[in-house]
Amino acid sequence: MPLHTGRRGDDAELAINPLYARFGTHRVPKLRLPEHELDADAAYQLVHDELMLDGNARLNLATFVTTWMEPQAQALMGEAADKNVIDKDEYPQTAEIERRCVHMLADLWHAPQHREAVGCSTTGSSEAAMLAGLAMKWHWRARRQAAGLPSDKPNLVMGANVQVCWEKFCRYWDVEPHYVPMERDRLHLTGEVAAPRCDENTIGVVAVMGSTQDGSYEPVASIAAALDALQRDGGPDVPLHVDAASGGFIAPFLQPDLQWDFRVERVVSINSSGHKYGLVYPGVGWIVWRDRDKLPEDLVFHVNYLGGSMPTFALNFSRPGAQVIAQYYTFIRLGFEGYRRVQQACQDTARHCSAAIDHLEHFELLSDGSELPVFVFRLRPGITAYSVFDVSDALRKHGWQVPAYHFPQNVEDIAVLRVVVRNGFTRDLADSLVTDLRRELHQLDQLAAPLPQHPARTRFHH
Ligand SMILES: *Cc1c(COP(=O)(O)O)cnc(C)c1O
Repeated sequence: MPLHTGRRGDDAELAINPLYARFGTHRVPKLRLPEHELDADAAYQLVHDELMLDGNARLNLATFVTTWMEPQAQALMGEAADKNVIDKDEYPQTAEIERRCVHMLADLWHAPQHREAVGCSTTGSSEAAMLAGLAMKWHWRARRQAAGLPSDKPNLVMGANVQVCWEKFCRYWDVEPHYVPMERDRLHLTGEVAAPRCDENTIGVVAVMGSTQDGSYEPVASIAAALDALQRDGGPDVPLHVDAASGGFIAPFLQPDLQWDFRVERVVSINSSGHKYGLVYPGVGWIVWRDRDKLPEDLVFHVNYLGGSMPTFALNFSRPGAQVIAQYYTFIRLGFEGYRRVQQACQDTARHCSAAIDHLEHFELLSDGSELPVFVFRLRPGITAYSVFDVSDALRKHGWQVPAYHFPQNVEDIAVLRVVVRNGFTRDLADSLVTDLRRELHQLDQLAAPLPQHPARTRFHH
């Protein structure tokens, strides 16, 4: 959310369409609380009309966040709109549903059966990252204090490609970020480069499944192996957290043999966004710890629960319960096989679309959608007359939102376009995207071509 600022005394007003204006009200101030009431229908229409200016979610290939749910899910969310997740006393069944979801995820991510996994819902992966980071910081500090060692300079090791929530975690909770830069031939973190950045002050390493930069998975098992070797050689014992914001709901279904989760001994906690490939509207996220020991007891608060007490760990107090209920609906509605089918369709579309774009010969694929159903591509080196930013602008004319951006520090000269394939982006839509892209490239090529010498060859046709 942007921090909103407003000038006092600004008297901008919204005009009400005369069709809906009643009671003689025709204008509503934008930045001051209106003095009088508005008819409910007119107020609805006013807000509804304003929201028409928002983009069309179907053509938004920028976001990872769910933009379509079934009417039944929407109905449940409407019914649950008044449920406050913190109110375990009043809504014990919502609490029970959250508990079931945590267990389903712990199981999906292979938490050891003989230990008791713990976890909770959050507003998204960002809050989940704060909780995971805090748990690692608390543990590290406790170990240092118990050994009589200083505990004032904690650091966190991660790739420069991490999502901004980790930068926030470090800033907000006074942890020094140790970013491992990306290289031309290594667009994410690996064990080889992570382990040497760890020292006695490292609270943990974050591995990403997968990277928002290019949709690739970081090699969790080999990062863990490098940290195992570090410890074996007398170095620190560094816990590994997996930020599986997107991959937590992709890898279990599409790459079931990939060892990235609690099967990897060193992984202490995993977060994921229910509102990304978890297929729920924003905002719901999840955090699960391998076992109870990995979550320091003094971070847990106890709230009243039917005369008993319910442990909670969260940054917020009140929060909507509807998303948690929608997550549970989606779990029982789709089951493993349903999720697999949905994610497979996304991946098939991503592979199909990236192959078609590769075929255009203007671009070079840096990823093809075979890990997350996400791919990035850049202009071939020979094309200098226009940039990926021009291509992104050109696609906007057709309603497509395909973001262009530079990679982070050290490889910032690489500028790419990214397509996130979500449920609902069909093969037909992918084909129209490629058709529009081809048309726009043709235009850009023509504009970039030297002006014709002979007047008969001008570009203006009659
Ligand atoms: C989206 C994302 C986040 C932030 O998640 P929210 O659910 O939007 O808060 C963190 N990490 C990664 C890798 C992401 O893709």
